[in-house]
Amino acid sequence: MSTLAFERTRLRVARELARLSQAQLAAEVGLSPAAISQFESGAARPSPETITAFSVALTVPIGFLHQPISETHEGFFRSLRRTAVADRRRARAIAHVAHDVAGHAAAAGRFALADVPEMRTSGLSAAVDEIEKIAGLVRSQWGLGSGPVNNVVELLEDHGVAIIRLPLDSADVDAFSLPFPDHPVVVLSTDKNDRARSRFDAAHELAHLVLHGEQIWGIKEVETQAHQFAAAFLMPADEIRHHLPTKVDWPRLFELKRYWQVSLAALLMRARTLGRMSENTYLTAIKAASARGWRRIEPVPLGMPEQPRRLLDFLASPASHSVRSLLPHDTLANITVATGV
Ligand SMILES: [Zn+2]
Repeated sequence: MSTLAFERTRLRVARELARLSQAQLAAEVGLSPAAISQFESGAARPSPETITAFSVALTVPIGFLHQPISETHEGFFRSLRRTAVADRRRARAIAHVAHDVAGHAAAAGRFALADVPEMRTSGLSAAVDEIEKIAGLVRSQWGLGSGPVNNVVELLEDHGVAIIRLPLDSADVDAFSLPFPDHPVVVLSTDKNDRARSRFDAAHELAHLVLHGEQIWGIKEVETQAHQFAAAFLMPADEIRHHLPTKVDWPRLFELKRYWQVSLAALLMRARTLGRMSENTYLTAIKAASARGWRRIEPVPLGMPEQPRRLLDFLASPASHSVRSLLPHDTLANITVATGV
């Protein structure tokens, strides 16, 4: 018998994993929606029999509903639309489970605690120079030296960031992150299958962890800053500026794409931001790329997207056996299958 108390937030997470509303769960277990609401808010506590009924209805182990849980804000979601709330909540609930796995992996000595530098911006109107400088500081603090980042996903995992891949199309997002202090979680999409974009997505989420943390989220300016950081982190201004073309020079751009492992779209934007390309030249390039269908599928494919490994290696190891009985089996399968293990 578990000595841990029922955790009200776990009930909400389990319900969101099952994509059920409070009313739908209430109908499943023969209670009123108000009762579910009270259990989730902490105004009332469910009996052991009711907890068992939740465990069955939501297909989660009873132990899952008794584990301590960390909370954070609703997450850095790039698209600020709210069209797919249930899918978005489910993705966020899966990220909570990934956070659980990271905690257990760390306790087993198989995952690092987070050491993501916290370098907050001066505010929503921070100048792009300030963001560029912070990106450079993170690179030097992590000893990256010059040149392209070899593997962004591996780099983040080495610094204690839990990363998983999930199909996110229905949640209407490319990627998102949750800034838990011990192990931030980054969720990348499996949908695009594009190495360059996936690296940029991972660097964008790193930006939120560095620049914004638990302080600010859900505003357009925050997303703009994360994009500025990602570009500077992957393509340091001092190193790339003089290699970027001033005209629409595709062979040069293809070469830069191969070297820096970033998309043509990101290179064009960088050329504009750093003042190498005029606004007109930039727009001409974007139009030409659109006309050739390159906005959807770019030329010069870079191969498979970078794959997260650390949590999956832990889940595949004997050390995870005692943990697996505490976590929802379907969700673990979702995490491991989506990541291709
Ligand atoms: Zn974002």
